Amino acid sequence: MSSPDQPSNSRPVPTTSSGPVAVVGGSAAGLFTAYLLARASVPVRVFEQSPCIDPAARTLIVTRRMNDILGKVGSPSIVNEIRKFELFTDGRAATITLDQPDLIIERSALIHSLAKHAQQAGAQIALGRNFRGLKAENGKITLELERAAENSTEQFSAQTVVAGDGSSSRVAQAAGWPKSKTVPLVQAIVPLPKDMSPDTVRVWFVPADTPYFYWLIPESAERGALGLIGEVGSEARKHLEAFLVKRNLEPLTFQGARIPVYTRWVPVRKKLAGGEVFLVGDAADQVKVSTVGGIVTGLRGAAGVAEAILGGGASRELRELRRELDMHLLIRRAMHRFTQDDYSRLVDSLNAPAKRSLSQYSRDEALKVLWRVCVSQPRLILMGLRGILTNGRSFARAGNP
Ligand SMILES: Cc1cc2nc3c(=O)[nH]c(=O)nc-3n(C[C@H](O)[C@H](O)[C@H](O)COP(=O)(O)OP(=O)(O)OC[C@H]3O[C@@H](n4cnc5c(N)ncnc54)[C@H](O)[C@@H]3O)c2cc1C
Repeated sequence: MSSPDQPSNSRPVPTTSSGPVAVVGGSAAGLFTAYLLARASVPVRVFEQSPCIDPAARTLIVTRRMNDILGKVGSPSIVNEIRKFELFTDGRAATITLDQPDLIIERSALIHSLAKHAQQAGAQIALGRNFRGLKAENGKITLELERAAENSTEQFSAQTVVAGDGSSSRVAQAAGWPKSKTVPLVQAIVPLPKDMSPDTVRVWFVPADTPYFYWLIPESAERGALGLIGEVGSEARKHLEAFLVKRNLEPLTFQGARIPVYTRWVPVRKKLAGGEVFLVGDAADQVKVSTVGGIVTGLRGAAGVAEAILGGGASRELRELRRELDMHLLIRRAMHRFTQDDYSRLVDSLNAPAKRSLSQYSRDEALKVLWRVCVSQPRLILMGLRGILTNGRSFARAGNP
C-alpha cells in the first residue's frame, strides 16, 4: 500500500464502472476509503449523520503503522509518543522498551484531517444524513437518508456502497450481515500521577475485574486515559470507578462506547441485485481483539476495500489484514480466561529475549511477535495452548450486546 504522501504509481487509474461510490459514515474508516477512491478519480459521496465534522474527543494509542498508512494525513492528530510499557500483575512488574515509539493520537484531529484530505481529493461530504435503509434493484442500490434538520428524507443511488458506520452498522444489517458482538470500553481522563513519565503506558492484568486489562495512557505530561474493556457495561464502569479510587486518581471526564469483537473474519463484500456493498472498520469488526485497538486495522480495511473496488475485487491488503486479525484472535483465545496465577507466570516468564522481541515488533505484527516470543520462551506456548484448549471457546460466546 502506498502512503498518501507518495506520488501515485504510473499505471492507469481504474474507476468503478458506473457512477459515484456512496460511503455511509464520515469517521476514520469511511473517510479514508473516500480519500483513497477520490484520489484515484472515482466520484465519491460520503453521508454522515452528524450535522458537522465534530467527533467527540478521544485519546487513542496506535502503533507507528498508522504513519506508514496515512503519512502526513495522520500527523496533525499525534499528541504524544510512547517509548515504554510497564506491565503489572499481583505485585509483579515488567518493563518493555519500544524500539520505535507508539503514537498517542486525538481522534477528532484525525477525522478532521481525513475529511480535509478526502475533500481536497474530490470527495463530497454530505452532513446531517442519517442512513435509514436501502433498496437494491436493477444494479443500483438506493439509500434512504433522513435529514433531521429539514425533517425530510432524500434518496441516493449508487452501484457501490461502502459502510463505515461503526460497530452497530445499520447498512450492514440492512444488507443482510448479522449483528456484531460488542464489548464495553470505558475510560476516564485523569491527571497523570506524579511518579509516571509521559512516555510510558501502564497496563494492569486484574482477571477478577476483566479478562482484558486496565491501561493508563498519557496523552501529555499532565493528563492520561485510564480505562478497561469489560464484558458487561455497568460492571465495567463500576470496576473503573473502584480502580480510580484504589489508584487515588480523580476522573476529569469519562469516555466510552461499545467495541466490536472480532470472532471470525467478516466477508467485507456482498452483491445485492447487481450492486455491491462493502464494509470497513468497526462495521466489519476490524478490531485487534487481543488489545481491542481498531484504528490501524480499520484504516487497513479501508485501504483493502478501496483496492478491491479499484481493482475489480481482489485485495492483497484484505488477505493480509485477515491473517493479522486471526492471529490476534488466537492470542485472545489463549489468554481470555487467564487466572491470576497465569498472569503472574506470564510476567515472570518474560525473559530478556522475549522482552527484546516485544520491543522490536509492534502490536500490528502479531505473527512476528508470537513467533519470536514463543521461540524465546517456550513455556508461553504451553500456557497459550492450555488457554485455548480449556477456555478458548468461551471467548466467542462472550460479549453479546
Ligand atoms: C473510548 C474508546 C477508546 C478507544 N481507544 C482505542 C485506541 O487506543 N486505539 C485504537 O486503535 N482503537 C481504539 N478504540 C477503537 C477505535 O476508536 C475504533 O475502532 C475506530 O474509531 C472505528 O472507526 P470507524 O470509522 O470504523 O467507526 P466510527 O468511528 O464508529 O465511525 C462511524 C461513523 O458512522 C457514522 N454513522 C453511524 N451510523 C450512521 C448512520 N445511520 N447514518 C450516517 N452515519 C452514521 C457515525 O456518526 C460515525 O461518524 C477506542 C474506542 C473507544 C470507544
